[in-house]
Amino acid sequence: MPEGDTLFRTAQGLRPYLVGRDVLAARAQGPGAVPQVQRIIGKRVDAVEAQGKNLLIRFDGGLELRTHLRMNGSWHRYRPGERWRRPPARARLVLEVDGTVAVCFDAPVVELFETRAEAIHPTLSRLGPDLLSPEFDAAEAFRRLRAPERASMSVREALLDQRALAGIGNIWRNETLFAERVDPFVAVRDLDDATLERLIATARRLLTQSAGVAPGRSPTKVYRRTGRPCPRCGTAIRSAPTSGEVPRTTYWCPNCQGGR
Ligand SMILES: [Zn+2]
Repeated sequence: MPEGDTLFRTAQGLRPYLVGRDVLAARAQGPGAVPQVQRIIGKRVDAVEAQGKNLLIRFDGGLELRTHLRMNGSWHRYRPGERWRRPPARARLVLEVDGTVAVCFDAPVVELFETRAEAIHPTLSRLGPDLLSPEFDAAEAFRRLRAPERASMSVREALLDQRALAGIGNIWRNETLFAERVDPFVAVRDLDDATLERLIATARRLLTQSAGVAPGRSPTKVYRRTGRPCPRCGTAIRSAPTSGEVPRTTYWCPNCQGGR
């Protein structure tokens, strides 16, 4: 599942090839295809940005495209005529500019809207502080995690709540909880302020390292390591599925982190 770090790298990879160029062709296909996508033909790409787990492409004239990759989506960049690495039928959106074809595969969310509507956009307007933004506001993230509606949430759920802090997904919430030796199943209200602050700082550090913004990317320690020894104490890593819209397994060390 692409997290903020993947989206950040995607934006970085597309930006030099798209920004400042005019859209020569654009088409959308598949379920929920955006018929108005033709409106961006002839427009210049002004910006390519990751916001949390959303990729935003802004055009002159005030239009904006949003894609959300959920579980399997990805953006690819090709030269004109180059063979695609996924079947064309799975392309949800194709953008052509001079010298580059950008293809978004399997994304369940492709939307076109007016940039000025961002402030009232149902998802974007509610995003918490973006962990990968240079202006990341840790105090605001803390305030949101401490909001009454999150008090009874387990910390493993709260860290994935994009309205509290944006950009983190299943890999880095598990790694953050392990790094800080926090029981994933404990309720947010049972964590003291210092622990919550450390979780926010560590989530940001791990995500920025993984995005390549900060040096020192480390391999994952618990994610997808069920039954293997904890790198800290040797106890077998445990895992538990989460029911819900998207299955997200929790991984943790029962010795270092406690928990059930
Ligand atoms: Zn351990």
